[in-house]
Amino acid sequence: MSTIVYWFRNDLRLEDNPGFREACASAKHLLPIYIHPDSNDDLTSWGFPRFANHSREFLQQSLDELRHQLIARGSNLLELSGEPSKVFQLIRDQTAFDVIYCEQIQAPEELAEVDVIKNLGFNVRQFWQSSMLDPKDLPFDLQEIPDVFTKFRQEVERRGLSYAEPISTPAHIPPLPLMSIATKPKEALFPKQVEPLFSGGELSALAHLDQYFERRLPDTYKQTRNQLTGMDYSSKFSPWLAFGCCSARTIVQKLKNYESTYGANDGTYWLWFELLWRDYFRFLHFKYGDKLYRPHGLIDKEINSFDKKKFQQWISGCTGENFIDAGMRELQQTGFLSNRMRQVVASYWIYDMKGDWRAGAAWFESQLVDYDVYSNQGNWLYIAGRGTDPRGGRPFNVKKQARDHDPDGAYRSKWLNAP
Ligand SMILES: Cc1cc2nc3c(=O)[nH]c(=O)nc-3n(C[C@H](O)[C@H](O)[C@H](O)COP(=O)(O)OP(=O)(O)OC[C@H]3O[C@@H](n4cnc5c(N)ncnc54)[C@H](O)[C@@H]3O)c2cc1C
Repeated sequence: MSTIVYWFRNDLRLEDNPGFREACASAKHLLPIYIHPDSNDDLTSWGFPRFANHSREFLQQSLDELRHQLIARGSNLLELSGEPSKVFQLIRDQTAFDVIYCEQIQAPEELAEVDVIKNLGFNVRQFWQSSMLDPKDLPFDLQEIPDVFTKFRQEVERRGLSYAEPISTPAHIPPLPLMSIATKPKEALFPKQVEPLFSGGELSALAHLDQYFERRLPDTYKQTRNQLTGMDYSSKFSPWLAFGCCSARTIVQKLKNYESTYGANDGTYWLWFELLWRDYFRFLHFKYGDKLYRPHGLIDKEINSFDKKKFQQWISGCTGENFIDAGMRELQQTGFLSNRMRQVVASYWIYDMKGDWRAGAAWFESQLVDYDVYSNQGNWLYIAGRGTDPRGGRPFNVKKQARDHDPDGAYRSKWLNAP
C-alpha cells in the first residue's frame, strides 16, 4: 500500500475512470490534483491567448464539481498552476509519494510533459481511457490502423464492436496524505460576454445526457445534425467529452439502452458513427504521432503562408463574406460552432483566404469550449488534405453552403446583428 498522486487531466470524472479507480484500489493515501498551465506560457506562437474564457469557465465549473464530489467522499482536489514537472517537485518537497497515476494523452505536447516528469525520476503510470472502443479489442494493431475511415469502420463493424463497458465509481477513496500546500487562488473570469451555453462538471454531463435521451432526440439526429442554430440539432456532448466529465463509453452505453427500449434507427446509428470518428482521430495518433503535427502534416506539399491582416479579418468575422463572418462571430461569442460551420469556415480560411491551416487550428483551440487535441487536429488535417483522407482536401463552396443550410438568412442575421 502506497501513496499515489492522481493527476486529473482531460478526465474530470469519478465514473468510468479506470486510472482513478485503480489508484483508489492500490493506495493507502491518495492525493487528487489538477495542474493549470502557467499563465505566462499562455500565448500561442500566433500571438493570441491559448485558452479563451469559454473553456476556462467550463473547466473551472468542472473542477469545482469534481472537488465537491471528492470532498463528499472524504477527499479533496488540489489545484496548482505551473509546469507539471515543477509542480510534482513541489509536492515531493511536502509529502513523500510513490507513483503518479494519470490519463494517457497520446499527443506530442502531453506525451513530452510526461517524459519530463519521468526523466526527473518520478514513477508514472498512464491509463488510456478516452475512447469508446478499447484498442485491445480491435482486429488490428493501432500501428496498422487503416488510413481510410470507411475501411476502419467496416472492420470494426465486421468484428461486431460497439463500445467497451464502462466501469463504476470507486466505492472508497483513500484519505489524503499529510501536507500543507496552498491551492491556487481562483481568478474571476471577467469580462463575461454572454451567458455560457454549457455548464461544466460530471453531474451536469449526466443531467445533459439524461435529458437528451428522455426527449428522444437521437431519433431525429440524422435529419437535424447539419443545422446551425439551437441546442437540439446535435447532441452537444462535445464539451463534456473534451474535459472528460463523462466518458464516450458511458454515452454509448446509454445509447444502447435507449436502442433496447425504443429501437435502433438511423439517428442512433449516426450518433455512434460520429463517436467512431472521434475514436478514429485518437487512434491515428498511435500510428502517426508527431507526424500529424508537422507543418505539412502527412502530405509533403507546400503550405499557405500566414498573413496577419487576413487572419485578423477571419477571426473577427470581418472578411466581407457574410456566412463566414456569422460563423466566426458565433465562435468567438459562444465558444461553439456546429460541425457544418466548422467545416465551412475552416475551408474558407485554407482555400479562399489561402491561410496557414495551423493558425486556423490554433484559433479553434483557443476559442472552442469543446477543444479536443485529437479531433481538432484530425479535422483540420482532413479539410486541409494533409491527413490520411485519400481525397486530398475538402474545399467547400461557401455560397452553396449558405443556400443549403441558411436559405432564409436567419443564421447570418442572428450573428451579424448580434451586439
Ligand atoms: C475544423 C474542425 C475542428 C473541430 N474541432 C473539434 C474539437 O476541437 N473538439 C471536438 O470535440 N470536435 C471537434 N470537431 C468535430 C465536430 O465538429 C464536433 O465534435 C461537434 O460539432 C460537436 O458537437 P456535438 O457534440 O453536438 O456533436 P454531434 O454531432 O452530436 O456528435 C456526437 C459526438 O460525436 C463526436 N463527433 C462528431 N463529429 C465529429 C468529427 N467530425 N470529428 C470527431 N468527432 C466528432 C463528438 O464527440 C460529438 O460530441 C471539429 C470539426 C471540424 C470540422
